[in-house]
Amino acid sequence: MMRRKMVVGNWKMHGNVVSNKVLLDGVIAGVRDLHNADYVVCVPYPYLGQAQSLLQGTNIAWGAQNLCSTKDGALTGAVAPYMLLDYGCSHVIIGHSERRSQFHETDDTAAARFNAALEVGLTPVFCMGESLEERDSDWTDFIVGRQLDSIMRRYGVDVLTKAVLAYEPLWAVGSGNPATPEQAQEVHAFIRKRIARCDPKVAAEVRILYGGSVKPSNAAQLFAMPDIDGGLIGGASLTAEEFVPICRAAN
Ligand code: PEP
Repeated sequence: MMRRKMVVGNWKMHGNVVSNKVLLDGVIAGVRDLHNADYVVCVPYPYLGQAQSLLQGTNIAWGAQNLCSTKDGALTGAVAPYMLLDYGCSHVIIGHSERRSQFHETDDTAAARFNAALEVGLTPVFCMGESLEERDSDWTDFIVGRQLDSIMRRYGVDVLTKAVLAYEPLWAVGSGNPATPEQAQEVHAFIRKRIARCDPKVAAEVRILYGGSVKPSNAAQLFAMPDIDGGLIGGASLTAEEFVPICRAAN
């Protein structure tokens, strides 16, 4: 089956109203004629309105980088899933390694957020990945399998058809040291096989993005691997000069 490629930009905690406009204008112009893949930018909460007003009517979707798993209530500083809908979001990143390592995100809390996103019709971009120590100890399959199972055990396998998965080895995220296409492919194939044990059709359909130091210079080789369906892009999503060629590689 041919899966449509996807590129998701993760701005993390970067940007301001002026620089966002320059960036988004550049990305809009650069991907306008690229119709063979899907493009998403996940921006900080305060800029969702700006993303909405600049991106609506274009071929670029937008989303957030996290959400609260509670519907609404007395939770100072939290953002409820329906609030993202008010700003036209279609996607939300869930379980990013920076949330797991710096904000006490666990398999349990990530799974709850995953489900909360689905309940309001948002597409979760669910991140999984091992640390360097875990890789060096041959624990990659165990860690990534555990993170994947944290969703499938609670919510079944079918929910994956409404999600996007992202393999993001921690040692590659923001390090300038990407996984080789072969290293990434090996883990993507492992993820797909594990899903196939539950449902081969879901496994064949679900998009699995690679994230970790993707640049214009390595995107095409990574995206050419059979189980890599595009990229989750951090640093290189912050300029149109880098992000657009990555989108073109997916196209
Ligand atoms: C990310 O933040 O998800 C990421 C992959 O970052 P970078 O591309 O900078 O490694």
